[in-house]
Amino acid sequence: MEKGLIIVISGPAGSGKGTVVGLLRDMMPDIGYSVSATTRTPRPGETDGVHYHFMSKLDFEKKLAENEVLEHTRYCGNYYGTLKSESEKIINAGKDIILEIEVEGASQVKKIYPDAVCIMLLPPSAEALAARLRGRGTETETVIRRRLSRAEKELKYLEFYDYVVINGEGDQDGCAAKILGIIDAEHSKCARMKDFTDNFFS
Ligand code: 5GP
Repeated sequence: MEKGLIIVISGPAGSGKGTVVGLLRDMMPDIGYSVSATTRTPRPGETDGVHYHFMSKLDFEKKLAENEVLEHTRYCGNYYGTLKSESEKIINAGKDIILEIEVEGASQVKKIYPDAVCIMLLPPSAEALAARLRGRGTETETVIRRRLSRAEKELKYLEFYDYVVINGEGDQDGCAAKILGIIDAEHSKCARMKDFTDNFFS
């Protein structure tokens, strides 16, 4: 059976990652999606088991101690992580899986699965990122500055990534299509087609 791809998608707050991943999942209804676990409280409209598996800090730490977490990080005082129970059932079924995770978790995944396809989503410029964060109108200037400085640190993790995709203003569809193209190209790599080519004449 051909192995599925592990597709990691990261991007700073304001990169439009959530929307693009949503579009991608609409375009590829068969793709597996790992619902992360988090200790942060649900936002209005978020459902347990759909947006996240919401759990207590104690439960998350128990899962960590029992080696049930593939990757994790602490972000703004909360744990976030991929549960092996979520990811392995998709990976073992040979399906492609999307992990929408931040950079530290992505670096852990890349170490465990070197052929994971890691994609960093970025707005067209730092100014555009700042404008998007300010445009939301939901955060104070201090929080915006903190997010911008975090975004700068996140770029330091690019060594763990394979692709940078720009999410231009109003071009979420184009951006999702570009990622779809990357996924197609990755599936066509000689190394991934080896089972097929080796058995072509037999
Ligand atoms: P939010 O609280 O806005 O939903 O997510 C905050 C950050 O945590 C986002 O960058 C999101 O991609 C990241 N994140 C969500 N789930 C996971 C996960 O399972 N692992 C890691 N490493 N990061 C995650």
